[in-house]
Amino acid sequence: MVGIRYIDAHAHLLGRDREDIKGAQLRIERAAELGVTIIAIAQVPRIWEETLKLAEEHDNVFVALAAAHPDDSMTETFERLVTLCRDEPRVVGIGEIGLDYRQGKPSDIAKRKDQLREHIQIAREVNLPLVIHDGKATNDVLKILDEEAASDVGGMIHFFTGTPKQAQRAIELGFFISFGGPHTYAKPLAELVRSVPLDRILVETDSPMLAPPKHHKDEGNEPALVVDVVKGIAEVRGMDPEELREATTANAIRLFRLDED
Ligand SMILES: [Zn+2]
Repeated sequence: MVGIRYIDAHAHLLGRDREDIKGAQLRIERAAELGVTIIAIAQVPRIWEETLKLAEEHDNVFVALAAAHPDDSMTETFERLVTLCRDEPRVVGIGEIGLDYRQGKPSDIAKRKDQLREHIQIAREVNLPLVIHDGKATNDVLKILDEEAASDVGGMIHFFTGTPKQAQRAIELGFFISFGGPHTYAKPLAELVRSVPLDRILVETDSPMLAPPKHHKDEGNEPALVVDVVKGIAEVRGMDPEELREATTANAIRLFRLDED
C-alpha cells in the first residue's frame, strides 16, 4: 500500500479517557504526517463503535477488536464481534486478548484462559490474525496457542518480554514478536531484541499505556513515536534503521493483510 512508512502495530486511541475523541484525532494526524499507520486496539465492546468511526475517517487507522472483559454477557457480545469482523473492512485483527499474571485476581485466571480460547475460535471463524497480550504468563499463553491450533490464523504477541527461547516457540506457532518503547533501552530485553529474525519483528507504541521509547521517557506516548521505536530497536540490534523500518512495515502489512483492499 502506498504511503505507509511505519506501522504502529499496537496502539490504543481511546484508552483511559474515551471521551477524548479530539485528542485521538490529533494523535492520528501527527502519525499520518510521518507516514505512520496505526493498528488501533479496541479490546472492550464499549469502544468498538468509536474506534471503528476513527478508522473510517482516517486512512491510516485499522482496528483489532476483542471482548476482553470478564463481566460481559458473552454469547450476545461474541455474535456482535463476529458480525463486525465480517462486515467492517477496517477490522483486521482479533485482540487484544490473553493472560496477565501481574494484575487481576487469581480467581479470574480460569475465566481469562477460557476467553482466550474463545477468541482463538472466533479468529478462526472470521479468518483474522490474533493480537495476544502476555503479562508474565508466556508459558501458559504459548500452551493455549498450541492447544487451540492458533497457528491456523497466526498473529502477534504484543510487547513481548519473554525469553529468546519462548520467542522462538511463538514464531514456530506462527506468531510475530512485537517490540515497544522499553525494548529500546531496557538492558534485560536486549538479548531478546537481537534474537528475533528480521522477518518476524513488529514495532508498536502500545500508547498511551506503555512507556515511550528512548529519549522520550518523560513525555506522553503516542503512535507518532513508533518512528523512534524503530530507531532504538535498530540501535540495539546494531543494524540500519531504514532496513528495520522496511522489514517491520512489510511484516505488519503481511500479517494484517493491509494490501488486500
Ligand atoms: Zn495494549
